[in-house]
Amino acid sequence: MDMWRGIPREEIPWFPTIDDSKCTGCGECLSICRNGVLGFDESSRTAQVTNPYNCVVECSTCARLCPTEAISFPDQAAFSEFIKQKLATGEKP
Ligand code: SF4
Ligand code: SF4
Repeated sequence: MDMWRGIPREEIPWFPTIDDSKCTGCGECLSICRNGVLGFDESSRTAQVTNPYNCVVECSTCARLCPTEAISFPDQAAFSEFIKQKLATGEKP
């Protein structure tokens, strides 16, 4: 199982969410991400999150590059607090 700072990656809710209604299918996010997180749905012609836990924790490059702001991530402050709590509860290796 993949771990991040001693926490199982699948317990960390950091991955993109794509708003289909804003996605134009330009493919910019698919070009930039080398981690296999995103895929392209031919029928809707939109990008999709296919492997969320492949996303690099705290990366948000694709969201910054999306021309229509279709990609969002968790609130950074709330996420930092979540990680702090998680580490404090002793879920370390
Ligand atoms: S960069 Fe944005 S608009 Fe372009 S395919 Fe990705 S999510 Fe859709
Ligand atoms: S945030 Fe980074 S690792 Fe995650 S999907 Fe976007 S470009 Fe890929």
